[in-house]
Amino acid sequence: MNSIVTKADWQARAHALCIPDKPFINGRFVSSRSDSTFSPINPATGEEICKIGIGSSLDVDEAVASARDAYEDGRWRSAPPLRKKQVLLRIADLIEQHGDELALLDVLEMGKTISNARAELAFSSGFFRYYAEAVDKLYGDVVPSDLSTLGYHLYEPRGVVGAITPWNFPLIMASLKAAPILAAGNSLVLKPSEVASTSTLRLAELAVEAGLPPGVFNVVPGLGRTVGEAIGRHMDVDMLSFTGSTRTGRQLLRYSGESNGKALLLELGGKSPQVVGADMRPDLEAMVTQIIHEAFWNQGQWCVARSRLIVEESFHDELVDAIVRASEHLVPGDTLDPDTTFGAIATLGQMARVRSYIDAAYDEGARLLSPEGKIDGCFMAPMVFGDVSPTMKIAKEEIFGPVLSVLTFKTFDEALRIANDTSYGLAATVWTKNMTRAHAAVRDLRAGKLAVRSRPGGGEQTGFALSTEPWGSSGFGVEGGMSGLRSYCRLKGVEFVCG
Ligand code: NAD
Repeated sequence: MNSIVTKADWQARAHALCIPDKPFINGRFVSSRSDSTFSPINPATGEEICKIGIGSSLDVDEAVASARDAYEDGRWRSAPPLRKKQVLLRIADLIEQHGDELALLDVLEMGKTISNARAELAFSSGFFRYYAEAVDKLYGDVVPSDLSTLGYHLYEPRGVVGAITPWNFPLIMASLKAAPILAAGNSLVLKPSEVASTSTLRLAELAVEAGLPPGVFNVVPGLGRTVGEAIGRHMDVDMLSFTGSTRTGRQLLRYSGESNGKALLLELGGKSPQVVGADMRPDLEAMVTQIIHEAFWNQGQWCVARSRLIVEESFHDELVDAIVRASEHLVPGDTLDPDTTFGAIATLGQMARVRSYIDAAYDEGARLLSPEGKIDGCFMAPMVFGDVSPTMKIAKEEIFGPVLSVLTFKTFDEALRIANDTSYGLAATVWTKNMTRAHAAVRDLRAGKLAVRSRPGGGEQTGFALSTEPWGSSGFGVEGGMSGLRSYCRLKGVEFVCG
């Protein structure tokens, strides 16, 4: 049973934490080749957490060489499937055993609440369990041929995969990359965000403890413009899997084009809609809980945050009243207090970005519908803006903070037009019980992940099997499920002359 139950317990545990602060290369922590350091800051307190070597292209070279050696000698790639499965399952076990520590690292660095961080652990271990079980379930097929030849397809690993992750769900993002990349038999060099890198470093260490051979999973913390660019341009990295902003994603396209043309998987930004029909009135209460969750989880710092609410005009007032009332329960507070319902914005820089959108909202004539909350350091309460037109900045651009824009529609066609009026296409939720409307939305909405209504515990109902592929400025390439595993494989066609 978990003995950490009070704020004081968590504070004591945070105080005693051993924080990983060095690159993890070839199965151990090593000093960075660079003398300079960077310092992650706890946004809830403004305190420096540790100093981490800033990382350099030399660190990346060493990590890639270690991943290459591991790949070529087959220590992991050629391991029997059951061995791979055991190791990945053991990583999942270790994530759970060290859950409090991993959750704390994410809380300290990016300001989520301890209760959210602990709830998120199930996703991280879940990815490893799902892909552990997938190891012996992905195989090629035999093609029709005459009797002299055997023709078949093989799924092979891609080789050395580089991965670059954002700060919003540090451990989940590292796990979502590492689990399928490793399950497919690749070697990995991962650069976490400089805002929150320590849980990823610890994850790599736990992976070796679980039996993953040294050199297969390397982590180089550091800045995007040094470590990130060095991975993106590296001539010996076969594929790059990136999650982050659209702006950085486009840089990576350039790096690939200017280096070895490495394969890319890009999961980028979003401005996702939730379309609400008036026929949902009888389900108001349960729906509002979900709408708030989808808009404000992780302080709205969620790529799939449904940050545009597009509601049928006749239902607007009732729905908005309920949303505003329910959001009052989200009160920013001490992130180590298990009773806190709303954490901090991850950095002062991100806070400034959110503030600039709030200013733009007022300038362009949007109206604040929620109570005017105080903005204090990295803390702010959720905000709901009405009178938003589709051309306003807060309706078009990704804010990545707890700001919900409310728009209205008269006809369902108009709702779908507004929902699609964005260059992004990451996710969408449609709230209706009208089957004709629901099917039209499934067919016509440009979104990689589409929900027709949604329920708490999102994902529990479909496990880890759903795959998604974004549209437009939200990127390309499939993540999740078995298709997500195929993303990290190469398909080889074999013509084998018999006799
Ligand atoms: P970001 O693009 O600033 O940084 C992401 C990562 O890229 C970090 O590790 C960063 O150091 C690195 N990076 C930055 N500049 C780089 C460069 N020039 N070359 C190589 N690497 C570089 O994004 P962020 O602020 O960390 O995260 C927020 C963004 O991530 C939002 O746009 C959000 O929508 C997106 N995101 C998308 C998903 C998804 O699944 N689609 C999930 C989470 C977050």
